[in-house]
Amino acid sequence: MDDTIVAMATALGETSIHILRLSGSEAGTIIEKCFEPQNMKRWSRRENFTLNLGVFRDESRVLDQVLVGRMLAPSSYTGEDVYEINCHGGTFVAQRILQACIRHGAQLAEPGEFSKRAFLNGKMDLVQAEAVVDLICSRTETAANLALTQLDGGLSATIVSLREKILETLAFIEAGIDFPEDDVETLDRETLEIKVNMALVDTRRLLAGSKTGKILRDGLLTVIVGRPNVGKSSLLNALLHEERAIVTDIPGTTRDEIRESVSVGGILLQLVDTAGISDSQDLVERLGIERTWKALQTAELILLVVQANQPLTKEEYHIINIYAEKVIVIVNKIDLLENEDLFSEYENGKGIPFSVLQHRGFEELEVEIRSRVYQRGAVLASDQLLSNVRQISALERCEIALKQTAESIKMGMPWDILSIDLRAALNYVSEITGDNVQESLLEDIFSRFCIGK
Ligand code: GDP
Repeated sequence: MDDTIVAMATALGETSIHILRLSGSEAGTIIEKCFEPQNMKRWSRRENFTLNLGVFRDESRVLDQVLVGRMLAPSSYTGEDVYEINCHGGTFVAQRILQACIRHGAQLAEPGEFSKRAFLNGKMDLVQAEAVVDLICSRTETAANLALTQLDGGLSATIVSLREKILETLAFIEAGIDFPEDDVETLDRETLEIKVNMALVDTRRLLAGSKTGKILRDGLLTVIVGRPNVGKSSLLNALLHEERAIVTDIPGTTRDEIRESVSVGGILLQLVDTAGISDSQDLVERLGIERTWKALQTAELILLVVQANQPLTKEEYHIINIYAEKVIVIVNKIDLLENEDLFSEYENGKGIPFSVLQHRGFEELEVEIRSRVYQRGAVLASDQLLSNVRQISALERCEIALKQTAESIKMGMPWDILSIDLRAALNYVSEITGDNVQESLLEDIFSRFCIGK
């Protein structure tokens, strides 16, 4: 941790500018050796948050004309002295500046090392650090917004408040252990039960929202399924706004799974186009069909495309019945209907009247997908939502431990047993923000960051 670290903060390659980041107690000394500011008077005042023009040297050799940003401890990203060197965007130039910093004593940073230092120096907790990665990797505006609210510390505050509730309850139990002969024991048990149940309610509310959070972050694995020629490829193309799948009049030509991501109503759909569900004799097609049934099982959302001027088939009924929770029926080609009267099985909200050709139904599809993701209004986009699998898993373990505590209270277990269960809950909730975390877990988390972050 005492080392001064350096890394490229921008991706290698020819670009307009590159940025290198230098952080640590020796960062200032290294910069003094290499940077010759144009305005020495201003530079010498050591003002924080300034950008300074000058040349970057390695010994007597000028490497580039640069802008150096100065962010001094503790008011920097890492909490240490940080200098950011903006140089010209050639790979060669940036590499030479990097090497000069290393020659003057800096170590090449590991992936995520700047953020890890920020965490260790108390600049952010783990929820915020993981939000940084999510923000960088977000593929939809909704995912980016979610990561931003987490980065802001709102979610951390909710977790901290839950942690405090559990901590306070633990203190209450420990007071109970200290005074076992206290004659208000029964009353205390009731209070304790209320306290544990309140923590349980908060935990469950967060877990319920996390289903939405996870979808906003990772998207939904979506299968488009339907008989040949109903318009699956046309729908996929329309969603992607590009000719990625082959659209044709000959039934059964979309044989390969096509994986694409598309944002529908702000929700990322990871699309898998399939070969259809017809009972075809063609071997190649049959292989595709078997895969389709497997894909349906693993899918989180099924877009079943049917044709408006044809009644539902046995297979289509089957899919609607067994996957009721995750299927949306798209009743395509309504433009072919004479008076637009749908078959009765498509009515009562069972299907969205659709025409890819006339671009009808897309808005209704967006509304339906959003409504399902937000659990029909039970969860709001403005809610503090957990979305990270690690954090969700820690909260699930916290819930189990709280439930165990509540049961133990009911069974009249002694106070010291209750304290063991509740301490486990406290440890799990603490893992989320990083108040209680093993070094190996930290390494695992920060190794997923990019170099320079
Ligand atoms: P797939 O086999 O299910 O992938 O079906 P395709 O997307 O290849 O479409 C089959 C045929 O139906 C093509 O000729 C499309 O142009 C046509 N088609 C797709 N959507 C519509 C629609 O909404 N209305 C009409 N009339 N034809 C459509």
